[in-house]
Amino acid sequence: MNEFDIIRRYFARQPVTREDVHLGIGDDAAVVEVPADHELVISSDLLIGGVHFPADTHPAAIGHKALAVNLSDMAAMGATPSWMMLNLSLPEINIAWMEGFTTGLFGLAQKYDVQLIGGDTTRGPLTIGIQIHGWVARGQALTRSGARVGDRIYATGTLGDAALGLAQHYGRLAVDPEHVGALQRRLERPTPRIAIGQALRGIASACIDISDGLAADLGHVLEASGVGARVTLERLPLSPAYESLHAQVGWDPALSGGDDYELCFTVPAAQQKLFAQRLHDFDCSVTPIGEIEAQPGLRLIDTRGQEYHPQRVGFDHFAEL
Ligand code: ADP
Ligand code: MG
Repeated sequence: MNEFDIIRRYFARQPVTREDVHLGIGDDAAVVEVPADHELVISSDLLIGGVHFPADTHPAAIGHKALAVNLSDMAAMGATPSWMMLNLSLPEINIAWMEGFTTGLFGLAQKYDVQLIGGDTTRGPLTIGIQIHGWVARGQALTRSGARVGDRIYATGTLGDAALGLAQHYGRLAVDPEHVGALQRRLERPTPRIAIGQALRGIASACIDISDGLAADLGHVLEASGVGARVTLERLPLSPAYESLHAQVGWDPALSGGDDYELCFTVPAAQQKLFAQRLHDFDCSVTPIGEIEAQPGLRLIDTRGQEYHPQRVGFDHFAEL
């Protein structure tokens, strides 16, 4: 099987066919149509075997995650995802791996109606680069820079589960068998918060997806917006699995673990009513965790009202939990 056989067999045949794709895989480039009065939103993420995922991860989980992390960026922008490019470097042609990978990739692509419109395939260390495209109505993209003093800060879902799952996977953390599956699912199969991102258009003043830990990513919002914030640790949304380990691991996995792929966003007082109404449509929990303040920097407040400092801020590929 050569490069062209792979493209024909695994990528040219795919589940999603969109009417706005005028030319997809098979020519020198793709041709697509952006709806009138909308802006194109583009992002890419690179996943390297042994760096971004354990080398023995199931290929379907790799396919899922490679797309999920890109969809998460679309969610953070409030964009509607539509197309993707796949740049793939493979050490060898392994049919079982390709079948698994495309099952995971296209399973998620189908769910969000994202069509694969092109890419490149080469031999080399296992590397998956996806570029995702989507669109928003002109001027409606959610950005990091709009948070203002008095806005309330929210987080979707639960935080820190993927970091705990990774620590468990590498044998650095003993987890009750009852919770292992939940943590591994959160690590391998993150859920992009697309519907929530779209519902936040016209409501949230700023938004980011949490990929490097809440402290670092909220920090990016604060910096871009020229403000500070206060977050109450007890309000951080934790899963039952995390709660069972909390006495042992403390707050740091929720604050500075990687790979959550939840959204962190701010809502001004004037939008609270509309926001509360829209909350009903959301498919996951949304938790208020703090407020935007004028004083620069992020203040994490513990149970005794004292300021808490995590051991590290931001996901570090070389750090031990
Ligand atoms: P070129 O030599 O012009 O770069 P290629 O032979 O690399 O063309 O690719 C042929 C077609 O297959 C193109 O439409 C390209 O976008 C598509 N393609 C190649 N690799 C992938 C991939 N991994 N996923 C999706 N489409 C791919
Ligand atoms: Mg090429």
